[in-house]
Amino acid sequence: MKIDPGKCVACGNCLPVCPMGAIYIDPASNRARINAEECVECFTCYRGMSKEHLNPTFVRAIRKAANFFRFRFDPEPDICPTDAIVPEELSWPRLVRRAFSDPQVPHESTGIHGRGTAEVKTNDVTDRVKEGEAGFVVEFGRPGIGARFRDIERVTQALAALGVEFESNNPVTSLMSDSTRGLIRPDILNEKILSAIVEIKTKLEMVPVVLKRIKELSREVGTVISIGVSTRCNGVGEEPLGEILEREGYPAYRGKTNLGLGARTVAQA
Ligand code: SF4
Ligand code: SF4
Repeated sequence: MKIDPGKCVACGNCLPVCPMGAIYIDPASNRARINAEECVECFTCYRGMSKEHLNPTFVRAIRKAANFFRFRFDPEPDICPTDAIVPEELSWPRLVRRAFSDPQVPHESTGIHGRGTAEVKTNDVTDRVKEGEAGFVVEFGRPGIGARFRDIERVTQALAALGVEFESNNPVTSLMSDSTRGLIRPDILNEKILSAIVEIKTKLEMVPVVLKRIKELSREVGTVISIGVSTRCNGVGEEPLGEILEREGYPAYRGKTNLGLGARTVAQA
């Protein structure tokens, strides 16, 4: 994303709109600018603000005069008065920022918008996670912090070393150069995104080891990590995961139980 310095009148309206705090007023030029390193191409500034097409020279003159007489001339807070926010044509690898940060863009690898994951929400019909297995969603980043693929790779490498299985129908897995070692394509490692979800599965007995390793790594990476773990109940609705999680000091909830009323999308063995 870019701000056209010829149009911007430095009203500052777009600053609080950016979830990454990447927009600032440059005191030298008295124009808003975007820190390209921190911008995750989420398009919130472009889409989230109304646009007016006032003449920038006219607005600057009024603002200057108003300042001289010690009153302010500010546009409504949700408006860019001169339509100065301009999307750029994104090329690889920067393109990956938008794919993981703009919820309106479908992810190429899955066709799902935003982070592009279905997780285990549909496990009743996909049967991704079977009885005796645990499915993990490991979420990196959130607004205000974001995440770089370099940090994500640090964790995926460590998880691969534990022998976990990466979900193949997941955008982060699709960007791996070697999923057996948890390696992500080197050309995107420095790219920053709003958030991403890594999906893995293990045997239930591996849950404590995986949780411990992720907790250790969460103190070493430059982002925040959230984890969700789920499993498949047996025929009478029982599962041992809740007990395992509580033993490890994590709360366990029957947050959502899929009843298996959907049509199966994979053939049963
Ligand atoms: S809202 Fe528009 S005019 Fe105001 S600072 Fe941002 S880009 Fe510049
Ligand atoms: S595209 Fe998103 S991250 Fe980039 S400047 Fe706009 S709001 Fe901020």
